[in-house]
Amino acid sequence: MEHIIIIGGGGAGAALAHDLTLRGFEVSLFEKGELTSGTTGRHHGLLHSGARYAVHDRAAAVECIEENRILRTIAPQALEQNDGLFVALSQDDEEYGETLLDACRTSGIKAKKISAAEARALEPALTPEVRGALQVPDATMDAWRLAMYFFATARRSGATFHPFCEVQGIDTRAGRVTGVEIIDYTAGKTRTVKGDLVVNAAGAWAGRVAALAGIDVPIQPGPGVLVAVEGRVTNMVINRMHPAGEGDIIVPQRGLSILGTSLWLADDPEDISPPKEHVDRITALCARMVPAVGEAAVRSVWSAARPLIRDAEASSPQQISRTFECYDHKVIHGVEGIVSLLGGKATTVRAMAEKTAGLICHKTGHEIPCRTRTTPLIPWRCFFSDAPRGGLPRSAP
Ligand SMILES: Cc1cc2nc3c(=O)[nH]c(=O)nc-3n(C[C@H](O)[C@H](O)[C@H](O)COP(=O)(O)OP(=O)(O)OC[C@H]3O[C@@H](n4cnc5c(N)ncnc54)[C@H](O)[C@@H]3O)c2cc1C
Repeated sequence: MEHIIIIGGGGAGAALAHDLTLRGFEVSLFEKGELTSGTTGRHHGLLHSGARYAVHDRAAAVECIEENRILRTIAPQALEQNDGLFVALSQDDEEYGETLLDACRTSGIKAKKISAAEARALEPALTPEVRGALQVPDATMDAWRLAMYFFATARRSGATFHPFCEVQGIDTRAGRVTGVEIIDYTAGKTRTVKGDLVVNAAGAWAGRVAALAGIDVPIQPGPGVLVAVEGRVTNMVINRMHPAGEGDIIVPQRGLSILGTSLWLADDPEDISPPKEHVDRITALCARMVPAVGEAAVRSVWSAARPLIRDAEASSPQQISRTFECYDHKVIHGVEGIVSLLGGKATTVRAMAEKTAGLICHKTGHEIPCRTRTTPLIPWRCFFSDAPRGGLPRSAP
């Protein structure tokens, strides 16, 4: 079978390696840092029900709820199935709640309207000002482990992973990509790897990777800040019942609560230091929903860059869709042998992989159905217990 090179070891690359190996392809994945060191290891860890997007971004909402259901069956141990609440704190919120409830229904998201008393019975740390809530099937995911389930299963099926190997060049001959130039930081060497097809799954770095092949892709890094405070102030995911904005998510992660987030547009996915005012704003806004987070000790502050698909018509960065696209550069730019996977969410990486692997099957002339919807992932620990003698990383092909 064809040899597919994946650039990028985040959730999207992991899920794609899993899908492609199940379909019988030979897969080598290259990651410039440690696996999951990009955005995948640095988000809230909210398994979206899709409710956050239901009103203004229906495509993303439908993708989220479908994947939310699938991940609960194929990777239950990467999740805490704790549900979420959208809480209303004002009359505007309550009015938005009616629109949100309708939008959830039409997107296939099970949402239940509950009273303020019921919400506070579920989550006593909610502000006494809460006026009502919607209960939705949000959940907490372990951001790092979910990706490792995909990596472990893909490696058991034959994929090879090469962390600390940065793709610095894409080889093209007569309009066709033939392989990649790698710098292997652990060996201190550069080398060429030949492949039949290259997939750019570099998230917010996808623009830089595509540029190595002389291609422009519409990716826009969209950083946001996250604040981890001490103590698990709620057991459910808490969202503000208003159009998706800033400082309106609290995700319980083990003994911490993760407060998020903000959004600005950046040119460089690495130049994204968290601005102090974002931290203050996020903490204050989240404390309106759950006052205890305003008093809790801050354990960590960090930022990460969303891989947003540029949209000149969006009225604000929040309005940019969180859906994903898969680009065949033969069709768009006349360059054969390279595909880019752009956008999406950590919640939807399996669906992103299914679409990309389908395109690869089409391009290589194979009719092989996707099996990732129902194939259980093996435990993430197998990634380490299956490691070859001599440890990681594996040697290059
Ligand atoms: C603040 C914030 C909060 C978020 N919260 C959530 C949430 O709660 N739930 C949710 O579902 N989604 C969330 N998201 C979105 C989600 O994190 C991302 O959509 C997802 O993690 C992207 O995965 P990816 O694999 O596409 O990209 P990444 O994880 O960034 O992977 C791309 C990889 O490519 C590597 N790379 C780049 N260039 C090269 C090269 N030249 N050679 C080799 N490797 C290279 C990078 O190092 C990186 O590891 C959030 C995003 C942000 C920014």
